[in-house]
Amino acid sequence: MDTPTTYKEEPQEGAFKCPRCATTTWGNLQYCPGCGNALDKGCSGCGASWRYFYSYDYCPNCGAKTK
Ligand SMILES: [Zn+2]
Ligand SMILES: [Zn+2]
Repeated sequence: MDTPTTYKEEPQEGAFKCPRCATTTWGNLQYCPGCGNALDKGCSGCGASWRYFYSYDYCPNCGAKTK
């Protein structure tokens, strides 16, 4: 018996809600498809660019506070 290949629309790994418009984004998107907000954000302390930096309280690279 073959298992039918079904595609389930569930949040993929790396799913992230845009902080501006709450559109769910995923994958390697650089900008939110809902509002054009940049999803990568650079640290003001060390310049490292992090995906979903919005959800971080501190930069994982240099420890600078992000909020
Ligand atoms: Zn957005
Ligand atoms: Zn940093």
